Amino acid sequence: MSDLYQTLGVQRNASPDDIKKAYRQLAIKYHPDRNKGDKTSEEKFKEINHAYEILSDPEKRKMYDQFGEDGVKGNPFGGGAGGFDFGDSFGDLGDIFGEFFGGGGRRRSRSSARQGTDLLINIRLSFDEAYRGIKKDIRVTRSGQCAKCHGAGAESGTGRKTCPTCQGRGEVRVSHGFFQMAQPCPSCQGQGSIVEKPCKPCQGTGYTREEKELSVNIPAGIDTDQKIRVTGEGNAGANGGPRGDVYLAVQVTGHPLFHRDGNDLYLELPTTYAQLVLGAAIEVPTMDGAVELKIPAGTQPDTKMRLREKGFPSVQGRGRGDQYVIIRLEVPKNISSKHKKLIEEIKIFDDELKERPFLKDFTDKVKKLFS
Ligand SMILES: [Zn+2]
Ligand SMILES: [Zn+2]
Repeated sequence: MSDLYQTLGVQRNASPDDIKKAYRQLAIKYHPDRNKGDKTSEEKFKEINHAYEILSDPEKRKMYDQFGEDGVKGNPFGGGAGGFDFGDSFGDLGDIFGEFFGGGGRRRSRSSARQGTDLLINIRLSFDEAYRGIKKDIRVTRSGQCAKCHGAGAESGTGRKTCPTCQGRGEVRVSHGFFQMAQPCPSCQGQGSIVEKPCKPCQGTGYTREEKELSVNIPAGIDTDQKIRVTGEGNAGANGGPRGDVYLAVQVTGHPLFHRDGNDLYLELPTTYAQLVLGAAIEVPTMDGAVELKIPAGTQPDTKMRLREKGFPSVQGRGRGDQYVIIRLEVPKNISSKHKKLIEEIKIFDDELKERPFLKDFTDKVKKLFS
């Protein structure tokens, strides 16, 4: 970015009058009406306006002198109302060109098409719906063009008048500490004009509330905190601009049996000592029905066994997760006297066991600790 004083061809100590004079001359020379289709002039014209916007404002000029372009670009103190608005510097130009070209103020934003705002809707899905995917009918309340005035906001046969709050500038200046900031005019929403007689159904806004039922395909594998975008179904745009989008923020409810982690599923399976010692074939539930899980003889408690590709499908449609079965040992608390007798018999054998690696490891460590 070149120096703003150079852009206007003035000295750094130029008076406000000098700046205005220089700006006028250059603006007339490079004005788009005089240089139709000339890209270089258009660029130059923009630069001149940008320079004037800053140098004609004492506060902005001071910031620029001190900090350069960075000082005026954002709010140097962070936070707050997000810096200065230099988006549209044609407001000042209108005042000057009114005298030369006889036109009123010219503002690009007044008639430019703008996209409508997005809508965020929370939806709750059951675990099963997220697993299989589902088509959901979702009712959205959004803004639509008023059917009576077709978005104009004025009662039929009436027009628009200059906004009295901002005198047609579309922006107002608000003091923010020792800064002055331009803000869109609250009376006309930055349009510079208001309707003479507001249309009744939309109260002059041009928009009315409307309800729309959307049928949305929710892909299998969706998870909590993921969003689904439905394009072009949000709030109505302005001046022929397209609608915004609808975002569905997904919440998936938990499952009484399964725990989900990414696309993997976890299931805790209760087993007995006998099953783990002898090995067993146990029916375990999956999201698609029961399957038989073979537990080998000598399986330790808390072992994690894998059922391949029994987890959630990937939401992108590629592959799927696994289901892990965690083997839990359930120790009975109340047993019959016969059962007790048998366990006592087992205990004799347990005591005679030679190979107990976990116990050996434990004993070795204890020995080391006290030696
Ligand atoms: Zn209306
Ligand atoms: Zn206004």
